[in-house]
Amino acid sequence: MNFNVPSGAPETGASDDQVKALQKYSIDGPFVEPVVRCDACQELLVVAQMRRIGKCTSCGNTRVRNVTVMQDTDMEKVTQWAADGVIDPDWVKLFAGVQ
Ligand SMILES: [Zn+2]
Repeated sequence: MNFNVPSGAPETGASDDQVKALQKYSIDGPFVEPVVRCDACQELLVVAQMRRIGKCTSCGNTRVRNVTVMQDTDMEKVTQWAADGVIDPDWVKLFAGVQ
């Protein structure tokens, strides 16, 4: 199974875009990221939508956490969200594989 993780280390060959994205989201804080993961059902949630409803859109849980690892199916989902303009495409770049 493949996992996509943030490279976290620009000197390992990240593109300029990735470095920019890393800088944008390097600040630790509650939900600065556009996507979080439900603590109960593990569903990926768009923060803007989750805030509006106030709970997980899938199971109704109110606890979420930052996304640290994404599987390929997760990547497909967030890539589509980025393409649709639902989330910032820069955030997806954090999880893109570093060549
Ligand atoms: Zn849930």
